[in-house]
This record gives sequence, structure tokens and C-alpha cells, in this order.
Amino acid sequence: MPELPEVEITARRLDTAVRGVAVESALAPGMNVMKTFEPPLEALAGREISGIRRIGKMPVVEFGGELSLLVHLMSAGRLQVYEKRASMRDRRSRILVRLADGRELRLREFGTKQRAWAKLLPAGEVEREEYVATLGPEAWPAPPLEELAGRIDQPRHLHPMLRDQRVIAGIGRSWVDEILWEARLSPFKQGSELEPDEVERLHAALPVLGEAIERYEEEIGETVPDKLPMPLQVHRREGTPCPRCGTTLAAVHFAEHSTTYCPNEQTGGRVLKDRRLSRLLK
Ligand SMILES: [Zn+2]
Repeated sequence: MPELPEVEITARRLDTAVRGVAVESALAPGMNVMKTFEPPLEALAGREISGIRRIGKMPVVEFGGELSLLVHLMSAGRLQVYEKRASMRDRRSRILVRLADGRELRLREFGTKQRAWAKLLPAGEVEREEYVATLGPEAWPAPPLEELAGRIDQPRHLHPMLRDQRVIAGIGRSWVDEILWEARLSPFKQGSELEPDEVERLHAALPVLGEAIERYEEEIGETVPDKLPMPLQVHRREGTPCPRCGTTLAAVHFAEHSTTYCPNEQTGGRVLKDRRLSRLLK
């Protein structure tokens, strides 16, 4: 799942690749992918791509300061540039922006479900769009400590709350594990229960996102691969030693995701109940 660092490097590489290139035509083979109808995608024909940027976990393609294509990749979408046009039989294609130089900017989605969506908006309306307008501050660069403290002062578990884009924007299932491990905080601690020094540790852990972007800058060439070499230390590494203290990492599994943590440093030595297992045993 692309999160802030992955979408940031994608936007940077795409921006370098297609900025200044004209659009020949655009279409959406994906069912229901477009959540706006006016202006239509065809309105992109003849316009120039003026830049690609990122808001939270969403890439935004700008067309000449007039139109913006806001893309929500959901869990399995990828936005990439291809040298050749897609076969219309490619069932992963959701949006095809055909470029005048023969290349194609393509939104594809892996897996069976069609969840990714996009909106074509007048450029000035992106920040007012419902989803964008309700986003919390960007997780990178980290917001001021006081702002973070205010945002998370809620009786909610840290693991789901930090992934709530309205609380803080850019964090998903992978990086939340890394951030909580860096901060030595339990995923099931409530935001409103944190002591000031714990909030400080959480704040100090957010720059792992920027460090990941730096790694990507060094390791990724002109094209972002389908699977990024994510520099994760604990996420999905249950059963292996904690890179810091050597304790065996544990995980709690939910229906669609899991959280990995160090029982020694994050949960006071306790191995948390597996939610999936405990539901089956009821
Ligand atoms: Zn540890």
C-alpha cells in the first residue's frame, strides 16, 4: 500500500518524467473510477502536464494551472508512466492519459477489487475538495509538537488513530508500525492516555518518513517499481528479533491487516491477544 514516502517519491519521479508534456487524449477504462463528470476527462486533450505533487497519500496531476486530477490509490493503485500505450485488454487499467510523445501516464490497480478513484477538478478547488479539506496536517515534515499533541488527544488507540487521515495525513498500515516502534509506544495505548514525554517520543518518530524518502531518492532510478524496497524494520517481521533489543517481535492480526510490535519495548513485556484468533474462539 503506498503511503506518504512511497507516494512522495512516485510524485517526484513522475513530475520529472512528464512535466511539460502535452496530453493527446485521456480515458477511464475502469468502472466507476471517476468520481466527477464535469469537466470530463476528455477536457485534458491538448493540455500540458504542468506538474505532479502529493497531498497526504494522494498524487495530484496538474494541467496548466487550470485542471487537477486528484487520485486516491486506495490499497492497490499505482500511477506510472509507460513507454507504450496499454492494451485495452489490460484489466488493471483504470485511467489512461495518453501523451503526445507516445508515452502514457497510467493508473493501474492490482488485486481484484476496484477501489481506486479520481476526481478531475478546476485547479483552485483541490484544497476545497471534501476529502482533502478534512485531512489533518501532513505527517512529513512533522507538524509542530503542540499541534500533534492536540490532534491525538482522543480516547482512541494509537494504531487506528494515526492511520486516520483526518487526524494526521500520510500514514498507513506499514509506517504506523515503524513510527510506534521508533516511539516505543503500544499500538493499543489511547492517545488521551499519553504522558507528555510519550507525545514527544511520537513526534520525534515521525521523521522516519523523511528518512524513507531519502532512501528512495538514493535507491530508486527514473522509474518507480511496482514493489518499492520499503526500508521497514518491524512491520510484518513478527517472529524475528527486534533490531533494537533482540526480543522476538509479535503481531496482532485483524481481518485485513496486522500490527507488529516489540513486546519488550512497546507493551511492557505483554504479548497482546490476537484479535483474529480470539474472535474465532468465541
Ligand atoms: Zn525491542
